[in-house]
Amino acid sequence: AGTPGAGLVARGVVRRFGGIAAVDGVDLDAPIGRITALIGPNGAGKSTLFDCLAGAARPDAGQVLLAGRDITRLPDHARARLGLLRTFQQIAAFQGLTVAENVRVGAEQVHRGTGRGLLGLPPPGRDTARAATERALRLLDLDAVRDWPADRLPTGALRLLELARALAATPRVLLLDEPAAGLDQAQTARLGTVLRALAAEGTALLLVEHDVELVARLADAVYVMAAGRVIARGPTASVLADPRVAAAWGAT
Ligand code: ADP
Ligand code: MG
Repeated sequence: AGTPGAGLVARGVVRRFGGIAAVDGVDLDAPIGRITALIGPNGAGKSTLFDCLAGAARPDAGQVLLAGRDITRLPDHARARLGLLRTFQQIAAFQGLTVAENVRVGAEQVHRGTGRGLLGLPPPGRDTARAATERALRLLDLDAVRDWPADRLPTGALRLLELARALAATPRVLLLDEPAAGLDQAQTARLGTVLRALAAEGTALLLVEHDVELVARLADAVYVMAAGRVIARGPTASVLADPRVAAAWGAT
């Protein structure tokens, strides 16, 4: 656990919109077995960096490495098959499907995939997909609503469904964009427990989160972004006590 470079690594990642570098040369290491948090004011470039890491956007410069392999040029679905999964700030469940079917789609999308053996992931197969679906539903307390149409879920449960879909894919690296947004206290506590358990099992977690108390409670390490750059990084307690970090937050 915590081996540098065994999870997800960004090296000098740049992403421009017009003349503006929304992400301006970011180095980041999200190790296996650790919860790494990415914080910073609105517009800092957190979601854009996530897009570059997950494959939704191509960096203009720099590299993204998964378990030491250069995945910079792979599209998001190929990264997902290699065990790199994400959730979105804007939730998007498949409408017209039940809760359980939504989670199953997440499982099927990657358990069919090839190349997983290279990264020490479970072999593909229907039983694995079914088992992964059931486990994700149970972990996120969605069993009772498994046959509900997903579009009838309240926001908090919908966010847990999105996480369940990613979990069903047995991720090696999981990127979470504001996972606690819209959750009540009990759901936030469950989220924390699940993320801790995932890290203990050997998943690398990287989360963007506005709730600094949650970050303080959960994260092993923190990166702070402002204006496209990392302005502070390190163990959670020392980063959150850094006056430059407080100044960046004051600017929001
Ligand atoms: P954060 O997630 O930290 O709030 P974003 O990554 O969403 O920040 O945005 C970083 C900067 O990039 C902002 O200035 C934002 O306006 C700009 N930006 C993000 N997405 C786009 C886009 N698709 N086109 C143009 N500018 C964008
Ligand atoms: Mg964002």
